[in-house]
Amino acid sequence: MNERLIINHNVMNQQVAQALIRLCPFSAFEWQDEQLAINTNCRLCGICVRKGPEGVITWCQDNEEAIDSSLDQAASGQWQGVAVLADTMEGYLHPVTFELIGKARQLAKQLDQPVYVMMAGYQLQQQIQQLKNVAPDRLHVYDDPIFRHFQTDTYTEAAAAFIQSVKPAAMLIGATQAGRMLAPAIAARFRTGLTADCTALEISQEGGLVQIRPAFGGNIMARILTRHNRPQLCTVRYKIFPAPVQEDDDTCQVVQEALPKVLADQQQRAKHVRSQVLSVSEKPKGIDLTEAEAIIAVGRGLRSRKDLDMVQQLADLLKAEMACTRPLIENGWFDPRRQIGLSGRTVSPDLLITIGVSGSVQFMAGMKGAKSIMTVNTDPEAPICGLAHHVFVGDLYDIIPSLISQIKNMQDITQGGPEICQIQRRPEALPLQKT
Ligand SMILES: Cc1cc2nc3c(=O)[nH]c(=O)nc-3n(C[C@H](O)[C@H](O)[C@H](O)COP(=O)(O)OP(=O)(O)OC[C@H]3O[C@@H](n4cnc5c(N)ncnc54)[C@H](O)[C@@H]3O)c2cc1C
Repeated sequence: MNERLIINHNVMNQQVAQALIRLCPFSAFEWQDEQLAINTNCRLCGICVRKGPEGVITWCQDNEEAIDSSLDQAASGQWQGVAVLADTMEGYLHPVTFELIGKARQLAKQLDQPVYVMMAGYQLQQQIQQLKNVAPDRLHVYDDPIFRHFQTDTYTEAAAAFIQSVKPAAMLIGATQAGRMLAPAIAARFRTGLTADCTALEISQEGGLVQIRPAFGGNIMARILTRHNRPQLCTVRYKIFPAPVQEDDDTCQVVQEALPKVLADQQQRAKHVRSQVLSVSEKPKGIDLTEAEAIIAVGRGLRSRKDLDMVQQLADLLKAEMACTRPLIENGWFDPRRQIGLSGRTVSPDLLITIGVSGSVQFMAGMKGAKSIMTVNTDPEAPICGLAHHVFVGDLYDIIPSLISQIKNMQDITQGGPEICQIQRRPEALPLQKT
């Protein structure tokens, strides 16, 4: 069911319009060129229908028709192009932005449509240059002191103004702190769908964005389509897609956008911007598995907490971060920020060693991007062994001490390897160099 409001212009005059403008708690009415218009602030609360002058605004419900997202529709200039919302919290351009632009370029190429990037912030010259190097077709910049600090209200207004003027068919947003606050606000504003934490994106035969993510505890990969509304919105975690190669590219058109009306007008701004940033302090640097180059992840194969000391020795030797599967978080052995997987962190280190980990779908959802995977397991049939480049089949209590002593003398631990276990290598396995 599609719901909307209809203005009866036959009974409209400036006096009636002013009454409605005063009445609306969301400033959704505007008097423009002698006409009353409804803007994107409208939440369909219906107060104008119930309490406004009689017969002026009416409520309309009709059956939704699927949006034809085929190329013909795109060519007719309605909703087209793939947009990326650049993540610029406190001026820091989050690297997920580049990854999303790379993916957007791939998707847009299939549709033969443009790639847009929308960025809000303050004093963004450097960020503009960085983004131009990954070659979107057009970069829309909202550069104003009001965007110096991230606020959901102000950034949502910028995103809404961008979407209204450009009408992108799809918009990709990083599943970062800022992205996770903005995406639902934008979706609500445009009454469109939103798929969070996508792990893959495709274009359907009809030209729609297929938003793919694990569902039902990771047992299925759901393929979600936004058929009736635009833009098609999704968030994607950092390190899911590869970043495109940066190149000196001069084809990107930079559009400096004016401050959205709602923010430019003092009175309207006071109504819409409900919070004020008093000060910003940097969070002390904590555990960040997403940036680690080497990770050792332990699982339920470890019998007791004190055995972690043995694994820690190996981690120290390899300058690796320690991580774990979910049961070890539940045991209280680790800080939750060290969990890899669907309900933990997504990692893509150069080297990942798993020890006593079976490789559940939920765990593997968070580590498929690792460049070289080595696993230690008594069970050669464990799912992780099918993904790992080097499989050490045997008891971890034999293998780890042996590895520790050998690693001190060897460059490549997979060339010799501990004699107490069998090593299986996948042909494309990379050599594991001692760091
Ligand atoms: C909604 C939901 C979300 C979830 N999210 C996550 C998530 O984000 N991350 C996550 O990890 N899990 C998650 N889980 C839990 C997940 O389903 C598995 O239960 C978990 O990953 C299993 O952890 P494990 O591999 O440590 O243990 P197990 O599956 O018990 O595997 C232990 C492995 O150790 C091996 N082993 C045993 N003894 C030895 C030894 N002496 N030497 C060598 N190998 C040995 C065994 O052969 C086995 O393969 C989630 C579950 C649900 C329902």
